[in-house]
Amino acid sequence: AARRAPDYLTGLNPEQRLAVETTEGPVLVLAGAGTGKTRVLTTRIAHILASGLARPSEILAVTFTNKAAREMKERIAGFVGGNVEGMAWLGTFHSICVKILRRHAELVGLKSSFSILDTDDQIRLIKQIIQAEGLDDKRWTAKAFAGMLDSWKNRALTPKDVPEGEARAFANGRGRKLYEEYQERLSILNAADFGDLLLHVITLFKTQPDVLKDYQLRFRYMLVDEYQDTNIAQYLWLRLLAQGNPNVCCVGDDDQSIYGWRGAEVDNILRFEHDFKGAEVIRLERNYRSTSHILAAASHLISFNEGRLGKTLFTDFDEPDHDLVSVASVWDSEEEARTIGDEIEALQSKGHALNEMAVLVRASFQMREFEERFVTLGLNYRVIGGPRFYERMEIRDAMAYLRCVAQPADDLAFERIVNTPKRGLGDATLKLVHGLARAERIPLMQAASQLIDTEELKPKPRNALKTVLDNFERWRRQLDQIKHTDLAEIILDESGYTEMWRLDRSAEAPGRLDNLKELIRSMEEFESLAGFLEHISLVMDRDSADASDAVSIMTLHSAKGLEFDTVFLPGWEEGLFPHQRSLDESGRAGLEEERRLAYVGITRAKKRAKLYFASNRRIHGLWQSTVPSRFLDELPPDHVEIGEPSSNYGGYAGGGYGPSRFDSHDPFDGGSYSTPGWKRAQRNRQSSNGFSDGGGRGYQSARQKRQGPLTIEGELVA
Ligand code: ATP
Ligand code: MG
Repeated sequence: AARRAPDYLTGLNPEQRLAVETTEGPVLVLAGAGTGKTRVLTTRIAHILASGLARPSEILAVTFTNKAAREMKERIAGFVGGNVEGMAWLGTFHSICVKILRRHAELVGLKSSFSILDTDDQIRLIKQIIQAEGLDDKRWTAKAFAGMLDSWKNRALTPKDVPEGEARAFANGRGRKLYEEYQERLSILNAADFGDLLLHVITLFKTQPDVLKDYQLRFRYMLVDEYQDTNIAQYLWLRLLAQGNPNVCCVGDDDQSIYGWRGAEVDNILRFEHDFKGAEVIRLERNYRSTSHILAAASHLISFNEGRLGKTLFTDFDEPDHDLVSVASVWDSEEEARTIGDEIEALQSKGHALNEMAVLVRASFQMREFEERFVTLGLNYRVIGGPRFYERMEIRDAMAYLRCVAQPADDLAFERIVNTPKRGLGDATLKLVHGLARAERIPLMQAASQLIDTEELKPKPRNALKTVLDNFERWRRQLDQIKHTDLAEIILDESGYTEMWRLDRSAEAPGRLDNLKELIRSMEEFESLAGFLEHISLVMDRDSADASDAVSIMTLHSAKGLEFDTVFLPGWEEGLFPHQRSLDESGRAGLEEERRLAYVGITRAKKRAKLYFASNRRIHGLWQSTVPSRFLDELPPDHVEIGEPSSNYGGYAGGGYGPSRFDSHDPFDGGSYSTPGWKRAQRNRQSSNGFSDGGGRGYQSARQKRQGPLTIEGELVA
């Protein structure tokens, strides 16, 4: 008798099932968002295990984040029950490579206890090498060289592989020499940088055929999620393994390639068929996630990109009265946060779970305003892919400086920043300071200042410590003389803290600098530094650490692969989204990557996608009136509605400007599409209050004095 298909297979559509059951030979699943690619991978693993084709330890599965790896493990366990803990090789490229490297470290000149260099150490090391070469490290910066190293390692280029032209470009032709030097130093230090993790394993595989063979035999099945975001090194790594065993299954979507800035190569998808002989390419076209409005909006938007493989998508997920994608215009980021907070509460009161809602931002500095609003409302939230705003490292550091100025006895704050950025104040020095503080029962800073008058410290640390204390002295004197926001900027500059991040070449550094600017901006709402610090201690004190039902706040980059009923997408303005940096640095390619990011954002939504743009935003310290994102113009009129303007404009309606205006001028009606309603609305609003580019001042000072909830009317008359 025919056996019934196992449970995990029922419910799959024919193409999905094909992708699950074609276990032998290379398979590429190329399909749009929400078509079940990740589900196919998970089910495929379950199928391999349930059919006894391999044991858990014989499956290599690569996910993009550690979180995704955990979730995949849980789901597989749900399908097949039993023990999936044996899935030792399910993780990110990096985590898998570290594991391999620790076992064979000696073969690439390391010991198995090797350490992984952080960016701070890396920059310092490079700087030393540049100086040792007798080069001017102002002209040939460590940061620039670190960027080159990264791009070489992403392409699996060892020093001798670096193309002549590129090697020549740095330091009058000494690029290759520096690279060699750097690798040698790492080896002496028994350390690897991030890029080395893959590169060393590739070298290992290339130079030790028996080791490679061993892994080729071990990994009977290999699977890769988010394949569009692999770089060349990862691709080579995979191909080496697949030489002995072609059971490779990769799933991806060229339209969701969003890590080009980190060296991801969407071409890997195009190459797959060519390089993995006999590959079966399976396309999935049915989307199981989103309503047809959401899917149509996302598909139309992404069709503006030129370099794509192109694909069809359809859905029959629709319920009778499913929502159009909405676009709402708000005054500024504060109103944006307020509006979204209100909408979340409204949904919640209708019984929608907070877990099914997410706010996806382009840049992490945008998160702060949402966090504060949600705290005010008592809404539970969690920040995914990073700590909450005031818990971020750079914010805590900056706050520690401010606390030391306002509260000289704050020992914890002092300890945090006394040697950040590094000033050569090591453990020995700090031990002396601590000892004296304990003995005399005085705060650390006071102890430190007593100590520098003695002979106990060596000249170097003594001078360093003296500089720190003199700085704090001076800043404290300035406390009553200059505006607290200006002082905060001065402190971060003069302490070298801002500079530290400027020199950092890690991918996070620009975001951290933006966060510091946002911190200063957030201080403007308060009269004084003390008032601000008090507010923060209240915000920080909130205990909803792991509330089970919570709104998610995260960047678009970290939202990849996830889904929510309702997705809020704030900040759709030129300069922020598409992000100026990306346009400046990569031109057309940068724009297309931003557009893919927009596509990722919209396709996270199952039922509701809500987009916002603020007419005014503070960019680089100045209020600017903004231009709505070009992506808004690229949405298909039939599937989009101009959202209800927020309630703040209610009082304004008397002036001839109100919600009804949005309704009566359907911007998508016929030929008027070229002047979307939000653009007109923005103009109207500006002319009705005389607000323009240069007019930010009055607004700002009104804002500083505000008490309680702010309304546009209140603000304009203030
Ligand atoms: P992304 O490109 O965003 O990573 P994806 O292609 O990986 O998306 P999945 O996350 O696997 O898509 O699936 C999207 C949603 O559709 C999930 O909720 C999944 O459980 C559901 N789904 C996938 N296939 C089916 C199916 N055959 N029947 C019912 N639901 C399905
Ligand atoms: Mg997925």
